Amino acid sequence: MTTEKAEGLVLRTLDYKDRQKIITLFTPTRGLISLIIKGITRKKSHLLTLSSPFTQGEYHFHIGRSELYTFKDGTPLATHHNLRSDLSLIETAATMAKALLLTQLPGKSTPALYALILAYLKELPNFNPNILSSSFHLKLLKHDGLLSLSPHCAVCNQKPTHLFLCEPYCQLHAPSRSHPFDESEWETLITLTEARSFAALKKRSLSEALHQKISNLVLEKIKCERGDSNPHEVSLTTPSR
Ligand SMILES: [Zn+2]
Repeated sequence: MTTEKAEGLVLRTLDYKDRQKIITLFTPTRGLISLIIKGITRKKSHLLTLSSPFTQGEYHFHIGRSELYTFKDGTPLATHHNLRSDLSLIETAATMAKALLLTQLPGKSTPALYALILAYLKELPNFNPNILSSSFHLKLLKHDGLLSLSPHCAVCNQKPTHLFLCEPYCQLHAPSRSHPFDESEWETLITLTEARSFAALKKRSLSEALHQKISNLVLEKIKCERGDSNPHEVSLTTPSR
């Protein structure tokens, strides 16, 4: 057995047997890892903190034969406790966590994405949560090479008016189940995807309809990439624990 350490953000917590929890951590260098934390009691408050969703911490663990590593020790770095005071914030954070759980892999190094989720969680209490979650989901797809917002249709040179599985199409070439976007919606899509500062995002407004359209688009693309045929298996809105 070797002992290793990694910084990570808790995306999911599952109760397991007596006083044990299994957590899924998103790390900058190892992608997703699962740790079992044993002996959690109310007196050991640091273990409760380290196993809570959206805690960012440094985790020390044993690597054995299983893909489930054994937690040994850890230090919380940030608890994001201000998210927990508001249901809409925690639900928004949960949709971002869910998207990472659906798209990221064990062992895949993604420091830029790790920095992105931390920045977005920190900013969340100061923002319209729909703008941040839409922007995060679009940036996540772009990071993974799954989104193209090119100024040309995928088939011809026309300006795109539709997206189908995150590929742009003009009116003529858009497949039947494409999502149409008018000019101002297209501009919003580009800002949400490309913005390099929160100030640029703050200037944008986002209608509930466009937020919903973006959620559907992102979900369709994730399902397509995963090869999921059952639409009920994957949902961004099911709260993760
Ligand atoms: Zn075209």
